[in-house]
Amino acid sequence: MPDDHSNIAPGRSALQIALGAIVGPEHVRDDAQSLDLHSADIFARGAATAALIVAPGTVEEVSRALAAISQAGFAVAPRGAGMSYTGGYVPSVPNTVSLDMSRMNRVIAVRPDDMVVTVEGGCTWVALNAALAPLGLRTPFWGPMSGLVSTIGGGLSQLNAMFGAGHYGTSSESVVALTVVLADGRILRTGARRPDGDGDSGGLPFYRHYGPDLAGLFCGDCGVFGVKAEVTLRLMRAPAHEGYASFSFPTGEAMLRALAELARAGLPSESCGFDPGLTRVRMKRASLAGDVKTLGAVAAREKSLVAGALAALRVVRGGRSFIPDDGYPLHLVFEGRSAAGVAQDVAEAKRIALAEGGQEIENTIARVIRAQPFPPLNSVLGPEGERWAPIHGHAALSQAPAVFSAIQAVFAGLAPRFEAAGISTGYLFTHLETNAITIEPVFYWPEERFAVHAVAAEPSHLARLPVLAANPQATAVVMEARRQVLEIFTRFGCAHFQIGRTYPYRQSLDAASWGLVESLKAALDPDRTMNPGVLGLDP
Ligand SMILES: Cc1cc2nc3c(=O)[nH]c(=O)nc-3n(C[C@H](O)[C@H](O)[C@H](O)COP(=O)(O)OP(=O)(O)OC[C@H]3O[C@@H](n4cnc5c(N)ncnc54)[C@H](O)[C@@H]3O)c2cc1C
Repeated sequence: MPDDHSNIAPGRSALQIALGAIVGPEHVRDDAQSLDLHSADIFARGAATAALIVAPGTVEEVSRALAAISQAGFAVAPRGAGMSYTGGYVPSVPNTVSLDMSRMNRVIAVRPDDMVVTVEGGCTWVALNAALAPLGLRTPFWGPMSGLVSTIGGGLSQLNAMFGAGHYGTSSESVVALTVVLADGRILRTGARRPDGDGDSGGLPFYRHYGPDLAGLFCGDCGVFGVKAEVTLRLMRAPAHEGYASFSFPTGEAMLRALAELARAGLPSESCGFDPGLTRVRMKRASLAGDVKTLGAVAAREKSLVAGALAALRVVRGGRSFIPDDGYPLHLVFEGRSAAGVAQDVAEAKRIALAEGGQEIENTIARVIRAQPFPPLNSVLGPEGERWAPIHGHAALSQAPAVFSAIQAVFAGLAPRFEAAGISTGYLFTHLETNAITIEPVFYWPEERFAVHAVAAEPSHLARLPVLAANPQATAVVMEARRQVLEIFTRFGCAHFQIGRTYPYRQSLDAASWGLVESLKAALDPDRTMNPGVLGLDP
């Protein structure tokens, strides 16, 4: 990107000086490389380039920075790690300041007596888990697969699927309290609080519910209502026992029927299903170095050296060829207080899977998912350096097979265009508590990468991948396929996380509900400066 400041928004220099006085000039950036990084997410570039980047280090700095940005008439886009792909944090207007949460990455306090932990909004899931593990503690939802870098503030703003979601639901179900800074600098604290905190913190939060659920308003808001500066999450004792099982199904529909029944029965704490397309991609990407690290992690998970060696041996013996080429593998993790309870859950899951035509296969991948929950984000690109973009819908348990069949029909219709453009597809499936199945089609296509891809993937992995040229024709086909998939999700009334500027949230609401969302926006962000266009507000 050229270092061309000819389009500098009026007032930018004055704002830069004002922000520098608040956070320190070294934490306000305007170099072309950083602005470029903050102006495209994993899927697409924003309509504009960020004017400035400001990185506050305290709640007070967030408050003063937001007030200054709002007074200067600029828009603001909070950014955690930037690992999303629905236009949530990219600028839509030229005078946008990117609010970089990377300095607010601390675990502030673990309070086992009250079973809560408080972190800053930019804290990563991996840092949270590292602080809790030595104490034998965990949060109920404990991270997305991007948790090596993705932030708790970002995860609550978009909502998350994955670790713990099978039993405890999405990230927001684990929230106790939030400290939110509003666009004009006001500080709002939710939750019941012990009175013995310092005056500035409003006390020590210990329970979420006291009247209407104010914390809930900010969960899934994609940052349009305010900045999550501090987050208090619920703790639980880490389950002492784990179990693993994997099955291969002849069709996606059979897998989804089994997954629905497993969800109704409340059995797996995590599930991860793939189609043959995604299995092929995953097998191509895995590297030998990765396998060695993986084996160590699998062995370390076991309670004794012998059990660890045996577990690693099973992974080696299983190799990568245990999944039938055309099968739909479903990998399940179980957890509980007793080995017998976990074994009973695994046995019941096996009964359910076999009744739907599943065949038990090596549970290598289920073990690896638990042993290395937060791997490097190399899957941000395809195995040949292609671009990668998922799109997802959460379907009612009874509807998931029909949603999948409808998407398959769309892909069959698009097959000639996919082939001509070099596009391949895959699916990822998982479940959320006892109520929903996530269906996530993913696309791989030849297209140039953005700065954010280079930040996400390991340098050694990137070095092995070819650098591809811009390919707007192929991207247009992916956009068209995503549009058609979205229509199916809408037809089946599916819900979405990561709404950003991609999912039709507004259209899913009745007039009274949308009126409430508009009123909340007017009350919380009267000048409409936060993430304009996101959630369908101020498009
Ligand atoms: C390889 C890979 C694997 C992934 N796996 C999963 C997975 O298993 N499960 C899953 O759910 N997702 C997954 N994701 C998607 C994504 O990483 C998550 O949605 C993640 O929560 C994004 O967090 P982030 O910190 O990067 O947020 P960002 O992308 O920086 O921001 C997301 C949104 O939140 C807003 N925001 C960020 N921080 C704040 C804040 N402190 N206050 C207010 N608003 C804020 C932004 O404005 C934006 O709208 C994956 C992505 C990749 C690349």
